[in-house]
Amino acid sequence: ERDSLDTIWMNGEFTDWEDATTHVLTHGLHYGTGVFEGARCYDTENGPAIFRWDAHVERLFDSAKPYDMEIPFSKDELTEATLEVIRRNDLESCYIRPVAYYGYHQLGVSPGDCPTDVAIAAWPWGAYLGEEALRNGIDVMISSWRKHASSQIPTNAKTNGLYVNSLLAGEEARRNGYEEAIVLNKEGNVAEGPGENVFMVRDGELYTPSLSESILDGITRDTVITLAEERGIPVHETAISRGELNTADELFFTGSAAEVTPIRKVDNVVIGEGTRGPVTEELQSAFFDLVDRKTDEHDDWFTYI
Ligand code: PMP
Repeated sequence: ERDSLDTIWMNGEFTDWEDATTHVLTHGLHYGTGVFEGARCYDTENGPAIFRWDAHVERLFDSAKPYDMEIPFSKDELTEATLEVIRRNDLESCYIRPVAYYGYHQLGVSPGDCPTDVAIAAWPWGAYLGEEALRNGIDVMISSWRKHASSQIPTNAKTNGLYVNSLLAGEEARRNGYEEAIVLNKEGNVAEGPGENVFMVRDGELYTPSLSESILDGITRDTVITLAEERGIPVHETAISRGELNTADELFFTGSAAEVTPIRKVDNVVIGEGTRGPVTEELQSAFFDLVDRKTDEHDDWFTYI
C-alpha cells in the first residue's frame, strides 16, 4: 500500500490525498473510458526535473482524441498543476500519473453529458522491475494473450481499458515464475511488454517493432532511438518475428517506469550471454546520464521544478 502524501490535484483544485475519490458510478470505472500518462521526475544534478513532460502531455491529449474526450484544461494548466503537485508534496524524484476519464453522470455506454474529470498525482517510485533488473536483466515469457489489434481499439492511445490486457499478460508471466511478459500482436509478431516497448540488438544494430505493429509510441522508445542514432548505432523500426527474439544478441525493454531494463531469457531460452549486453549497457548508461543531467545534451527535454 502506498503511503499517502499531502495532495492530489483534481479538477482544478489541490485535494487532500485521502479525499481524492470518485463516485462508484463513474463512467470510466465501468467501461475503462479514460486516458492516462506515466512520467518521471528525476533529482538531477541541476535540481528536480520532469523528463519529456511536453511529450507526455501531448500524448495525453492525443490519446483522448479517438474518444472525442474534451480535456477541460490547457496543456499549460496541466503543466503548472503538475509542478505544483511535486512542490507541495516535497518530492524530488517521483513518478507522475495524470489521468482524464469520463466521470459521474449517467451509465449508458455513450458518455453523453458525463464530465471529463482530470487528476494528477505523484509519488516516489523506484525501479519498476527492481534495481537488480536494471543491472542483471529479467526473465520474460511470451504471453499466451495477444495484443489488441489496432483495428479493434487504438493501441497508440494510452487508454485505461487497454491495461486489462496488460494485467492478463503480466500476471500470467508472474504466475509462471517470470518477471514480465512480451506480448505478440494479432499477426503473431512481437508487439511490446504490458507497459514497455521492446528492443533487439543484432550484429551491433538496433531493431524495434514499428508503430504499425499495434504498439504504444513510447517516449522512452523515442529517446533510446535518438541516443542510438547519436552514437552511430543503426536503428530499424520493423516487424520482428517471435523466433528472432531467441537468436538476438541482446534484448531490452524501455518505458518511463521500466527505464532501460535488459532481458536475459525469453521462455527460458538464454539471450546472447544471458547478461546485460554491451549495446544495452551503452544505451542504458547514456539514458541514465541524460536523465540525471550528467550531460548537458537535450536540456530542452527537461521541465525543471
Ligand atoms: N507500451 C505500453 C503498453 C506502455 O504502457 C508503456 C508505458 N507508458 C510503454 C509502451 C512505454 O512508453 P513510455 O516510454 O512512453 O513510457
